[in-house]
Amino acid sequence: MNLIFLGPPGAGKGTLAAKAVDILKLQGVLSPHISTGNIFRAAIAAKSPLGLKVKAIIDAGKLVDDDTTIELVRERLARDDAKKGYILDGFPRTIAQAEALAGFSAVDKVVNFDIPDSGVLERLGGRRVCRKCGHNFHMIFDRPKAEGVCDHCGGEVYTRDDDKPEAVQKRLEVYRAQTAPLIDYYRKQDLLIDVDARPAVDQVVENFKHSLGL
Ligand code: AMP
Repeated sequence: MNLIFLGPPGAGKGTLAAKAVDILKLQGVLSPHISTGNIFRAAIAAKSPLGLKVKAIIDAGKLVDDDTTIELVRERLARDDAKKGYILDGFPRTIAQAEALAGFSAVDKVVNFDIPDSGVLERLGGRRVCRKCGHNFHMIFDRPKAEGVCDHCGGEVYTRDDDKPEAVQKRLEVYRAQTAPLIDYYRKQDLLIDVDARPAVDQVVENFKHSLGL
């Protein structure tokens, strides 16, 4: 199944995608979780040419240009592990990206994570991320067992620069202007499924399974 996770920053797309991979695996469907944000952050950590190019843009809460992002996803989806399905988290984020994606992959469903700004601010304020494996934690809802250390890989748990208040406002503006129009774009194609993303993560997982008939 080719799935897109759509929603504002902090809606819980990354957290749910990690769980959705396990749910789909139980059903015999192996789908990699492909997060463009995680790919960019790994490139920044490795100080690769891509990382050096995108660091300032990402830290400011702006979008990386469409051509760079589309090419990255095109290459990623061409790899063997994405042939039977994928969960795309954080892509597409613009209509141009969605149109390009339609040219190289057929999307089955778009899961729209519905959450008001107040919920976004609460989640992003407490979010911490593992620098090594990208796992998300939350200082209120899901703290790492040892302060600053990832439970899964022992990597360093840190606050993303773009989760700081100035960048969060910018990311919400960018989301409303450039990404939210994708909701109508996919609704018109009858691909959209709305999931209430306000409750705690276990309930959101149930909402997600129910919406997809899993
Ligand atoms: P995320 O982890 O999905 O919140 O992404 C973090 C940042 O990476 C975003 O704020 C953008 O700067 C950049 N980014 C991720 N995905 C995309 C995309 N599809 N198009 C442009 N920029 C992106």
